[in-house]
Amino acid sequence: MEASVNPSRNQHTLAVSCEVHGQGYWTGKYVRVAIHPASTNTGIRFVRTDLEEPNQCDASVEFREEASLRTNLQNGKVHLQMVEHLMSALSALEIDNCIIEIDGEELPALDGSSLGYAQALSEAGLIIQAAEKRRLVIQETIRIERGSSWVQVSPALHGETYFEYRLSFDDATPIDSQTFGINLTPDRFLREVASARTFVTADQAAEIRSQGIAGHVTNQDLLVIGEDGPIENSYRFTDECARHKTLDLIGDLALSGVEFIGRVISYRGGHILNGQVAERLCEMAREQQTIDIERFSNTHQHVTNLRKVM
Ligand SMILES: [Zn+2]
Repeated sequence: MEASVNPSRNQHTLAVSCEVHGQGYWTGKYVRVAIHPASTNTGIRFVRTDLEEPNQCDASVEFREEASLRTNLQNGKVHLQMVEHLMSALSALEIDNCIIEIDGEELPALDGSSLGYAQALSEAGLIIQAAEKRRLVIQETIRIERGSSWVQVSPALHGETYFEYRLSFDDATPIDSQTFGINLTPDRFLREVASARTFVTADQAAEIRSQGIAGHVTNQDLLVIGEDGPIENSYRFTDECARHKTLDLIGDLALSGVEFIGRVISYRGGHILNGQVAERLCEMAREQQTIDIERFSNTHQHVTNLRKVM
């Protein structure tokens, strides 16, 4: 890695509050989300305004709840569903501190992408705060596996934060194998990732609908992919599915609260595997912090010894 990489930056919050509203995929409930600036070291904190206190849940891997097809959080009676698309936008746009008021359980699905969130956050703008956000510099390669899926975390080649998703299905599906990778920056996220939408195959959609779930969701609210491509819809990118999986990966890893310099490659990973990687990133950040503190105390010791000599 290049010596010029700066492992820290200033923390950011929003310049002004912003709002997003809409219906959730799973609950169908119409909710209003208001995102407010917050002081340094607050992190990302959800507040359920429809509940009595305590009604808060930090966007942390500590509160992650196992769920398929989405990322949920649970802190006591405070439950939140499908936080990953908002988390992805917050993380990619480097918003470290904010309070998210929501008057329901599930975040608005919007068009199935992060675009609505990213646009609202970008319009609100950022302010630079007088506190440090330390980044984790990945030092060694690790791989976390789950069945035939894996996620590999490895050192950066040139100080980048790189995300890659390799999509490939075992069974015959109408979705071709595809790979998408990006050196993440706020601008590139807005241009290349934010608008990539959630997708299901026509078979999966039929199964979900047969369970009486998501009856209000139409073929225009996400990509339902049949033999000839999206049904009553069209791709925004030919590799939109791999881009959306990258979006989910960024959002799920954001629950670690760790910004890293390094490369993350996911081969067919999903929300549960992403959660395990987020936990590992937390551990690595704690280890790095311990090393930094030891280094600092060694330096301190050295200075003390010199003083004695003098
Ligand atoms: Zn998603």
